[in-house]
Amino acid sequence: MKQRLSHILFSQGFGTRRLCAGLVWNGEVTINGQVVEEPDTEFETEGLRFTIDGREWPVYDKALVLLNKPAGYECSQKPKHHPSVMSLLPAPLRERGVQPIGRLDEDTTGLLLLTDDGTLIHKLTSPKHHVPKVYEARCKHPLTAAMVEQLLAGVELKEPESKVPGKFQRPPEITQADGAEIVDETLLRLTLIEGKYHQVKRMVAAVGNRVEALHRPQFGALTLSAELKPGDWRWIASPSEVWGD
Ligand code: URA
Repeated sequence: MKQRLSHILFSQGFGTRRLCAGLVWNGEVTINGQVVEEPDTEFETEGLRFTIDGREWPVYDKALVLLNKPAGYECSQKPKHHPSVMSLLPAPLRERGVQPIGRLDEDTTGLLLLTDDGTLIHKLTSPKHHVPKVYEARCKHPLTAAMVEQLLAGVELKEPESKVPGKFQRPPEITQADGAEIVDETLLRLTLIEGKYHQVKRMVAAVGNRVEALHRPQFGALTLSAELKPGDWRWIASPSEVWGD
């Protein structure tokens, strides 16, 4: 479909129509290495890429990005004690309503996906769709084969104690790892299908150990590459890259 450049920028979250036209007039938008100065110039949107501020932007109906989350950022939209992971993304992505697919704790590092596609968020967070997430947990005490067996067989996750007297406590949940292996004396690699609150930390606590540092190197078929430094992000062209097909 052909659209005016100012409308394309507007649809990609670059601000009001007037601001988008201004970006073009100011010569800030490049397509195929050429500055385009007329906001009404029409372009075929299929496969179009434009460059602003030295960064290339593909034209996506729905955005999907992979962030290498550093420690010290909260996944919540309304963070309480630390900045939100959203502050690591450029304004046009925030403007489009991109949000994290599941959550990583403030002190957890690694692969976090964000999108403005609500259906995709639902699919990728529902255990029904069987998307494996791989975690590396540096533990306080040496790991044992018995711990690994317990994690694979299923452990009881206790609810954190409620501070409100008499407040209803949910029954404990049983959960099991899809994969668990000892990498070195205190490093555990755990594969989970679900995404329960503090799941890795609570599972490791349930077998009598304690997580001291947690990292997620893999989500579905996507892995973190060494080139993507903590705090950096990259586009994912299609959700099929997450499913691996
Ligand atoms: N499990 C946890 O305990 N924390 C995370 O951040 C992710 C999984």
